[in-house]
Amino acid sequence: MHAPRALVQDSHAPLDPFGTARALDPRGGLPQPARRVDSDFSRLFPGEMLLAVETLNVDAASFRQMEDAARRAAGGAALSDEACDEAVARQVQATVLERGKQHNPVTGSGGMLLGRVLQLAPGRGEDVAAVGDRVATLVSLSLTPLRIDRVKAVRRASAQIDVDGEAVLFASGAYARLPSDMPERLALAVLDVAGAAPQVARLVERAGAAAQGRRTVVVVLGAGGKSGVLCAAEARRTGGDRVRVVGVERFAPYADDLRALGVCDAVAVADATDPVAVRSAVLEATSGVEADLVFSCVNVPDAEMSAILVTRDRGTAYFFAMSTSFTKAALGAEGVGKDIDLMIGNGFAHRHAEHSLAMMRAMPAIRALFERRYG
Ligand code: NAP
Repeated sequence: MHAPRALVQDSHAPLDPFGTARALDPRGGLPQPARRVDSDFSRLFPGEMLLAVETLNVDAASFRQMEDAARRAAGGAALSDEACDEAVARQVQATVLERGKQHNPVTGSGGMLLGRVLQLAPGRGEDVAAVGDRVATLVSLSLTPLRIDRVKAVRRASAQIDVDGEAVLFASGAYARLPSDMPERLALAVLDVAGAAPQVARLVERAGAAAQGRRTVVVVLGAGGKSGVLCAAEARRTGGDRVRVVGVERFAPYADDLRALGVCDAVAVADATDPVAVRSAVLEATSGVEADLVFSCVNVPDAEMSAILVTRDRGTAYFFAMSTSFTKAALGAEGVGKDIDLMIGNGFAHRHAEHSLAMMRAMPAIRALFERRYG
């Protein structure tokens, strides 16, 4: 039973849709860059939505970093999957305790969460959800005040962690009500990367218009993963046979899954941290043609130069991966004399949740694959 929380009333303070009242270090700043936020939910600020948290969908780059750190900490000793999961859960709990939010101090990224609405403080705009509804947040955990009371399970395949806890969403924070026609875990997995596909559609349309009859070459790095599959599928759906889609994936079983979907013209098994090998694999697949558009969807660092080396002059490399370094990309492109557009993958696009969930309804083979992996 939920005990209603008191409201902080300050008649002098303007309504704060961005949650600056919760930033503790530095005080009064924006919560995403803050080192620490206030996760005392015994009271709510105007505009906040209080949630009972059920599942955290940790960002893939962050989850991978915590796994790698746990294995490194074990030294040479082999760490069982269960021990690794426990170590990741401990790292998440420690971060949330220290920072008041799941803001990975190494990758800087967060993830999103699934929860049930407990209370809506006055001062919000029009809400599509009411108390009791189950919702997925569409803003990063790196800015979402969070308290974890208990970790119940870790599901590595989907980077999801079931917990008991609470969180608040600010008035400016996007969220989606969970659809009733698909499993919740599947919806959560898709919503985690919802920003990618709508932006692929825009960029493929734009590149197609500039191609003047030539086939647009699209390369996806990490193409067998969650966002990679959606990017490859969207490029095919938007561009039809006017695009040539090349997927690059390191993990052979995921490369096989991708081939079976039939959305790529070629799938290369290559390591995106090896730019020379990736360039050679891509050029072999395209008969020597460089890419108009490259989407980096890997969950590891050091893949910047693979994206840059395969992009054609005045083409676009789009970095969706949170493991991307701005410095490495900018200085690396300069270093190899590539005049290309480098884009940061914005997690938000208008109607991105509807767009990506609709892909699950329109593309049954991808939905079946994702249900098998994440559902
Ligand atoms: P995912 O499902 O784990 O997919 C990543 C894929 O990349 C996996 O198939 C992985 O294979 C593959 N990969 C890893 N290292 C590789 C390498 N060296 N060469 C080639 N392929 C490699 O992750 P996701 O959920 O799609 O997320 C992908 C990226 O998007 C992450 O960096 C995440 O942080 C980011 N993201 C960004 C936003 C945003 O708003 N911009 C939102 C959500 C997520 P393995 O199975 O071998 O690891």
